[in-house]
Amino acid sequence: MLRILILVSFLAASFVLYAQVQSPRPVDVKSYVYEVALSDANDSIGCKAVVSFEVMKPSSSFSFDLTSIDKDGKGMRVTSVTGENGKALSFSHASDVLKINAGTSATVGSVLIYKIAYRGVPANGLVISRNKYNRRTFFSDHWPNRAHHWLVCVDHPSDKASVEFSVSAPSHYQVVSNGIRIEESDLGKGMRLTRWRETDPLPTKVMALGVAEFSVGHAGESECVEVQSWLFPEDRVKGFHDYSIAAEVLPFFQKNLAPYPFEKLANVESKTIFAGMENASAIYYPETSVTGNRTIVKLVAHEIAHQYFGNTVTETDWPHLWLSEGFADYFSWMYLESAYGRDSMVAELKKSRDLVVAFAAKRSTPVVDSSTTDYLQLLNANSYDKGSWVLHMLRQQLGDSLFWSGLRSYYAQYAGKNASTNDFRMVMERTSGRNLATFFRQWLYTAGHPKLQIEWRYDVAAKAVKMTVRQMQDNVFEFPLLTKLVGGDGLVMKSVRVHERETTISIPMIQAPTRVEVDPNTQLLFEGTVREMR
Ligand SMILES: [Zn+2]
Repeated sequence: MLRILILVSFLAASFVLYAQVQSPRPVDVKSYVYEVALSDANDSIGCKAVVSFEVMKPSSSFSFDLTSIDKDGKGMRVTSVTGENGKALSFSHASDVLKINAGTSATVGSVLIYKIAYRGVPANGLVISRNKYNRRTFFSDHWPNRAHHWLVCVDHPSDKASVEFSVSAPSHYQVVSNGIRIEESDLGKGMRLTRWRETDPLPTKVMALGVAEFSVGHAGESECVEVQSWLFPEDRVKGFHDYSIAAEVLPFFQKNLAPYPFEKLANVESKTIFAGMENASAIYYPETSVTGNRTIVKLVAHEIAHQYFGNTVTETDWPHLWLSEGFADYFSWMYLESAYGRDSMVAELKKSRDLVVAFAAKRSTPVVDSSTTDYLQLLNANSYDKGSWVLHMLRQQLGDSLFWSGLRSYYAQYAGKNASTNDFRMVMERTSGRNLATFFRQWLYTAGHPKLQIEWRYDVAAKAVKMTVRQMQDNVFEFPLLTKLVGGDGLVMKSVRVHERETTISIPMIQAPTRVEVDPNTQLLFEGTVREMR
């Protein structure tokens, strides 16, 4: 996802964090089928959910996340729950938890199928509103754990499941969702049934349903993956031009990383509070994304990267969000680098480094941050910019070949599953044969970054530049530091491994340099000053 576009209304709408089912979870959901009924008459939705799950802990009851009715009357009211052979099951629904009594104690490893019927006006999670052309629209908006406002589910990224949406809606709407469209049938009386199915397991945050009047265009295809553009009809000409850039970006990922993981790539104009939301194979862009000038190329690359990292390899838990956002940002920069040259990546690196420095001045927290349960707080420069910088520095240290090979192995090993920062480290260590414990500890588990005070002088007698590098931050970091000296000797490049509070360096030069540049190739995340001592 790309940060927050509109936060105010969303926070005001009583955003509360919900108690999640704690690990080890009693259930592992295998699939969801949601039969959803929408209308133009009002904002009440009806839903029949079929939830198939494996029992992970013996229990006589199982709990799922589903928002209960709030003081404004919004939320979901459960009307029935049935189990095997259509047997009615008793349940309680309070404080956003639906607890279903299994009747008998279910054994570990058995697969149960529950049917849950409910109805209500979603307070959140499914945004029923009007677009900029004043047309009625329905758009899911789930990140981080807002799916359970309208979908009964285990609303946590670690429980991935296949999903099917079977939607009956007035026939003037088109319906877009994850996976492939498996049915479109007129029901008569101005209603149409549309079914979409994704068989690969998804985290709830990227399950999606979009219902609106759309113009649907074919933007191209790459390796048999169709790229589609879904635009509000008024935006079709400009929007088809803008969104078709995705067909040019997609091959970068297919060629360098792995086959695209889903059946199609739909780019959807939508209503979302985010500046982009990576819903699996149905990426949402905000209404402002249509300009006619293809200004969204970096955003498109970011969201396509998420189809691999975030949607297919999913972080085990929120503190590892950088495995989604840092990866998506860095891959978008690598796409820019491949398409427009290294300068375009360097520009992103420099902008990002400034953001990390500014963020660290306000809040001292590591990238892997377990200190908050307000997950929106994690949409910060650490998860995005510092996370990308970590990948950039890893790439410098390993070289392109090992770096890419490690990324491909990591993706291959965890596709369809969940991974933690430690899982990623182990794959990169195995691929490179290097111990990356210090690298991961200092950049991901430690707050801050090197703050360097660098002084140099030319020693005429010794015919050398004497340089002192002081680390001024709390924790001493270990990193390679490249220095570029320009002067009478021409150009001298010197790389030194800095690992102590103070490092002195001597660089032989016949004549005094006229210019000394630290980190000339933008390879290190740091802040600092370089001063000539006279
Ligand atoms: Zn993102």
